[in-house]
Amino acid sequence: MRVAVTGGGGFLGSHLCEALLRRGDAVICLDDFTTGKPENIAHLHDFPEFECVLADVSEAVHVPGRIDAVAHFASPASPPDYLRRPLQTLAVGSRGTENMLRLAEQNNARFLLASTSEVYGDPLVHPQDEDYWGNVNPIGPRSVYDEAKRYAEAVTLAFHRSRGIDVGIVRIFNTYGPRMRPHDGRVVSSFITQALAGEPLTIYGDGKQTRSFCYVDDLIRGIVAMLDSSVTGPVNIGNPEERTVLELAELVLELTGSLSDVQYHPLPADDPTRRRPVITRAQEQLGWNPEVSVEQGLRRTVDWFLGRPEDIAVGAAAIRGGQQDTVPVP
Ligand code: NAD
Ligand code: UDP
Repeated sequence: MRVAVTGGGGFLGSHLCEALLRRGDAVICLDDFTTGKPENIAHLHDFPEFECVLADVSEAVHVPGRIDAVAHFASPASPPDYLRRPLQTLAVGSRGTENMLRLAEQNNARFLLASTSEVYGDPLVHPQDEDYWGNVNPIGPRSVYDEAKRYAEAVTLAFHRSRGIDVGIVRIFNTYGPRMRPHDGRVVSSFITQALAGEPLTIYGDGKQTRSFCYVDDLIRGIVAMLDSSVTGPVNIGNPEERTVLELAELVLELTGSLSDVQYHPLPADDPTRRRPVITRAQEQLGWNPEVSVEQGLRRTVDWFLGRPEDIAVGAAAIRGGQQDTVPVP
């Protein structure tokens, strides 16, 4: 296959590009590197079947050659990233998704949308299966991401129903692993960076809110299975191992052997109280199951961060300086 991966220079996109290249597919990565990094894909240029095009997919993009599948991963994903870029986030979820659906249509290609557990908002049903419609504040600060992804799902299914495009929607739950930016503001990267730098771990709220954490290799196996299938979805992909934020902090301190304290900060607006996927659909329709425990995955992630002491120092300073602030920048 020749697969176009938007957001291929980001955390998940770069792992997806790599997995596809390793099994012999050709990959064209489309990225504007707003939150991605060229280093994430530097090693992929060794594959002759890898191309990278600098492009904002919210604008008109010309993609040369035949495409068999489009995996649309372009979008800021970390709350501080999308809160800083509200209009760009709405644009890439709406115009960007439409542009990539048209690219799939022109090529008679399968279209895979990277949607999110955020479509469930602050869920009133627990755990969340795909039939739950969600509880999203449409005008809160997080809506720029949540509603963009909800629109992206709607327009994807509209193209499927009205134009016959082969589409698949995955709802990705919190995923972590190597290549996260130390100061991207997400909880796993922040806690590991802070623990390794000897800085206090910043807990938002009382730390009793939960997330369910999936290791990146597991997630990518699920994405590839979805890409190869004809399943429309939506399909939840995530690891149902649910932890409170406080439990995660304790685990990171234990795994790093850090003597850092924890420090409490106000909870950001509309921060979901709890989140855990029901993954029966992924199990039954894709034969997919997560295999890496939170302990194993965090250990691997800590090892990767340990190999980058300069990034840790810079990242910890950036977090301390408030660059991960959840306050929207006008
Ligand atoms: P990331 O920020 O590391 O990657 C996003 C990539 O998209 C970056 O390389 C960025 O430069 C690129 N991008 C953003 N806007 C673009 C545009 N207009 N044109 C071209 N490229 C653009 O984030 P990630 O964690 O790798 O997330 C990737 C996708 O997966 C996102 O769509 C996100 O919503 C989804 N997702 C991720 C998670 C998670 O836990 N990591 C959870 C749910 C959903
Ligand atoms: N969080 C935290 N400290 C941090 C970063 C995040 O306590 O330094 C909390 C955040 O408020 C949320 C949870 O950790 O309750 C997960 O946050 P993340 O940004 O990783 O993912 P999302 O909120 O998008 O699920």
